[in-house]
Amino acid sequence: MTAELIDGKAIAKKVRAEVKERAAAFAETYGRQPGLEVVLVGEDPASQVYVRNKERASNKVGIRGAAHRLPADASEAAVLELVGKLNADDAVDGILVQLPLPDHIDPNAVVDQIDAAKDVDGLGAVNAGLLVLGRQGLRPCTPFGCMRMLEEIGCDPKGKRAVVVGRSNLVGKPIAHLLLQKHATVTVAHSRTQDLPGVVGQADIVVAAVGVQGLVKGDWIKPGAVVLDVGINRADDGKLYGDVDFEPAAERASHITPVPGGVGPMTIAMLLSNTVDAAYARAAG
Ligand code: NAD
Repeated sequence: MTAELIDGKAIAKKVRAEVKERAAAFAETYGRQPGLEVVLVGEDPASQVYVRNKERASNKVGIRGAAHRLPADASEAAVLELVGKLNADDAVDGILVQLPLPDHIDPNAVVDQIDAAKDVDGLGAVNAGLLVLGRQGLRPCTPFGCMRMLEEIGCDPKGKRAVVVGRSNLVGKPIAHLLLQKHATVTVAHSRTQDLPGVVGQADIVVAAVGVQGLVKGDWIKPGAVVLDVGINRADDGKLYGDVDFEPAAERASHITPVPGGVGPMTIAMLLSNTVDAAYARAAG
């Protein structure tokens, strides 16, 4: 392997240490800890683990983290009411509703109910709009984590060709805008893109966010490119794999994220960072 590994665990640890310091400084200045409230509807086992991890991670860095668990048959009105209550609570800086929600609840209605100043997942229409306009706002955690990784390895997107594979609202679209803001020339590829190998082959920065194991082949990668693999796919062998065929890609890339241990650990770290940002922004009025 010739590529340098981008160590998401180490970078996430550094982010959490920064957050801890800023959370302590916030508490000293304002007499309370920043607060993050996570709302979980139903008993989806993966979501339960995520929520528990978020609660734990918050408390470790001096953020008052709490989870609200509603039954799977909770009505949309009940969820909206809870979010409304958290919006009105001055000690709450960040609100996150764990997705997916049960089918009878409209996720857009719920996400848009979150006060934009507390939308630490950055997924509501207001923060998405601010991102597209290049204005200050809360950024979606996984894409924001990818940008932090580029910064940490000294990769300035300015003038570079970036190809994002995947156009979801959660990852693909926001990272394309973040890269654009950093002056990259951005192409967004997706399931209808023709000649995906040729498109990826032009990229100095490749972001794969698809959810198909090994979709991006090693020989598509331009020698020296930086590869960020957002994909998390559990294979039949029980192990996790990314969207990039790792070994051959690592023979051509200059830097590459492993799966697991790459982009994954950044998401919660950036959520905590967004929560402290939200706390300061709210306190500043
Ligand atoms: P999604 O299913 O919402 O979107 C997938 C995108 O991939 C779509 O835009 C689709 O057009 C595109 N696509 C599908 N098949 C394709 C193909 N053959 N060629 C090109 N493009 C294709 O997924 P998502 O929510 O964006 O997540 C993508 C992956 O990232 C998943 O594996 C998910 O688990 C992972 N993920 C990881 C983190 C993290 O913390 N690391 C966070 C979010 C998502």
